[in-house]
Amino acid sequence: MNSIVMKFGGTSLEGATAFQNAARIVADRIARRPVVVVSAMAGFTDALLAGVREVATMDAVAGLALLDKHFDRHYRVIDVLLSKEAPRLRALVENSREEIVQLLNSAANINLEHRQRKALEDAVASNGERLSAELLGAVLTENGFSAQAVDARRCVITDSEFGCAAPLLAETFAASKSHLTLLLESSCVPVLGGFIGSTVLGETTTLGRGGSDYTAAIIGAALDSEEIQIWTDVPGVLTADPRIAPKARTVPRLSFAEASELAYFGARVLHPKTLHPAVERDIPVRICNSRAPEGRSTVVVGESETSPQTVKAIAHKTGVTTVQITSARMLGAYGFLRAIFEIFDKYRTAVDVVTTSEVSVSLSLDDTTALPQIVAELEKLGSVSIEEERAILCIVGEGLRSTPGIAARIFSTISDINVSLISQGASRINLTFAVEEARAREAVMRLHKEFFEKSAEEHTAIDEWGVSVPA
Ligand code: ADP
Ligand code: ASP
Ligand code: MG
Repeated sequence: MNSIVMKFGGTSLEGATAFQNAARIVADRIARRPVVVVSAMAGFTDALLAGVREVATMDAVAGLALLDKHFDRHYRVIDVLLSKEAPRLRALVENSREEIVQLLNSAANINLEHRQRKALEDAVASNGERLSAELLGAVLTENGFSAQAVDARRCVITDSEFGCAAPLLAETFAASKSHLTLLLESSCVPVLGGFIGSTVLGETTTLGRGGSDYTAAIIGAALDSEEIQIWTDVPGVLTADPRIAPKARTVPRLSFAEASELAYFGARVLHPKTLHPAVERDIPVRICNSRAPEGRSTVVVGESETSPQTVKAIAHKTGVTTVQITSARMLGAYGFLRAIFEIFDKYRTAVDVVTTSEVSVSLSLDDTTALPQIVAELEKLGSVSIEEERAILCIVGEGLRSTPGIAARIFSTISDINVSLISQGASRINLTFAVEEARAREAVMRLHKEFFEKSAEEHTAIDEWGVSVPA
């Protein structure tokens, strides 16, 4: 059966006006059989996780005090938008609060192991998405639509890696179909929380921060939907982070490969894992602006463009650490790279960018939790040096592979900024490099000016494929 998935992020669910707006956007697309995926209200997940941290240092009461103003925000949405549904929803918010009190009390004054703490965080955080789903479901109902909140933990079945669980796709697809198809067949709009799932044993898990996008894609793949729509607070994927480049503009069309690189290297508008399920089923992902629903958007599609010219967007990611391993033993030896990567594998640490020379390997990481152990083992292979507080910049465009002079243009624009770890991605659609974190903003601003803000005689035009071309 045809359907679309519509995901609303926390920035599109800040309060009563935003909920009403989201409900209207869904209602306007009712004929396409929407399945709605929602995030927690903006800021609520941060507060819930801070509540758990607070319990480690103080007590459950202090942890809960941080949350009360967020429960009040939910009550305000109920007061403004609901009447018949209001008592049921007030009881649900109160139940959620009670559940959190119990969870926090169970952890107070106990020294939890890492895994137990992550499991507790997931259980507490799941309340954000569950309440949002109930609220939006009720708002739709009060507006005269048939809608039903669905507990996403019944649909998204995951492994037990609390804090960043991986969905078990076969189980998830089967469960999602069985819970959602009947509702769709009876013209009822299912509304699920994103980000959350459960193990086969029924323990609550989450897919990692920003994971509601991923839920939307998984559900879209499970139902073989026509389109996965990510509704957010900006008009699609922009040529750079708008907080750094205020003149950033919408890229109308991206290939899956381009969008994946941008998401992976810091364009927060899309969770990096979002595209996998969509790519596999060739389902377009559209990033839309909930503040201007009929305005500009970005569509991400499978195939790459046929006549690309040059740079489409710039992403950046801060908080990166680079590691360099140098050893003369690498010269002409085999098995050396494997030995290095086995160490990262052993500590379950993902490596982002890798460059090699005859005698050294440089790589970048975000997650430094296991770095001391990793370095101790790497030192058996060679000398190791670490640079913290780095940022990765990633310039993306299918055209990079065929346009001469791009690298020269990039590096001459930031010639006074020290650059390391330069890599033209294996997909040849991106060029990534590391700079000092303190200069990342400036580098993005200058590159954005160079590639997207120059006068009309130069490179400002964007063609219908979203590619900047000589005007
Ligand atoms: P949501 O709550 O909808 O999930 P997010 O805050 O996760 O929203 O993502 C949207 C934000 O991503 C935007 O407000 C913007 O600040 C940021 N962002 C970073 N890079 C980009 C980019 N290249 N294009 C669009 N937005 C970007
Ligand atoms: N609410 C979760 C977060 O803030 C998931 C999401 O918004 O995608 O990370
Ligand atoms: Mg997000």
